[in-house]
Amino acid sequence: MTLTPEILIELKSKLLIEKERIESEINRITKPSLSSDHEIIFNEIGDAEDENASEVEEYTDNIAIENTLEKQLEEINSALARINQRSYGKCENCEAEISIERLRAYPSAKKCTVC
Ligand SMILES: [Zn+2]
Repeated sequence: MTLTPEILIELKSKLLIEKERIESEINRITKPSLSSDHEIIFNEIGDAEDENASEVEEYTDNIAIENTLEKQLEEINSALARINQRSYGKCENCEAEISIERLRAYPSAKKCTVC
């Protein structure tokens, strides 16, 4: 089964919804920055030793979360670019068509289930 324009629209809107969700997640834990890199918000909880420890812990957690979100965002953007270039839905490894079930479950998939 090949990708019909209807399915492409469905998958594209899934990607756009996911993109919006990830961007708002990133905005929640970062502050606007002039460089392209996001700056992670460092929340001041208090000055006690355990409070400082939680601040650092939260900060470190947020860096890890932000990295993951950035990667997901990149995948989504590259999937959207592939839709525009009409190369979407092909395995980047063996060029086989990625099944629609797989794309529905994971719209930014780059590889087929075999690879
Ligand atoms: Zn493949």
